[in-house]
Amino acid sequence: MKRMEVVLGDITKLEVDAIVNAANSRLAGGSGVDGAIHQAAGPELLAECRTLGGCPTGAAKITRGYRLPAKHVIHAVGPVWHGGNDNEPELLASCYRCSLQLAVQHGLKSIAFPAISCGVYRFPIGQAAQIAVTEVAEFLKTDISLERVIFVCFDDMMQQAITQALDKLTDAG
Ligand code: ADP
Repeated sequence: MKRMEVVLGDITKLEVDAIVNAANSRLAGGSGVDGAIHQAAGPELLAECRTLGGCPTGAAKITRGYRLPAKHVIHAVGPVWHGGNDNEPELLASCYRCSLQLAVQHGLKSIAFPAISCGVYRFPIGQAAQIAVTEVAEFLKTDISLERVIFVCFDDMMQQAITQALDKLTDAG
């Protein structure tokens, strides 16, 4: 599908309507991509996050982007991987759906996702990539407002996983 693309790089540099943050449920900032986003956005982002009352796993909340090139940040809380029998796949799929819904509700046209849960939350990357690509593709089937959905990969392994999942989708027609 032409509206989906994969890029290798740092999500904090992207000039899009929204970047998604792999946040924790307290929306308190943290390590990995969360730390990088807060660092680049400046302290105003944490101040706005503190007004939101946290966010359950599988859900998402939106803030402004402050000093980021992106206009908004969508904070999605991915599941911690506990072996796969704790609803992890469904919760990860829900993160993607909720983020896309928020983007559409706010009239946004472009959104960039990091590999939610694939860092310290230890979700297996092949399965996570499959879920990410499938959820976005399903969403785009019924939505005509989003113009660009970017999967931002921080390393080659993740880029390969997303590329493979996108290829599978194309093969399946
Ligand atoms: P989680 O806690 O949801 O696992 P992490 O931030 O630990 O989140 O990792 C999620 C993914 O984001 C990992 O694949 C990691 O390599 C990647 N990542 C880390 N920093 C950045 C960044 N600046 N831009 C894009 N992706 C990033």
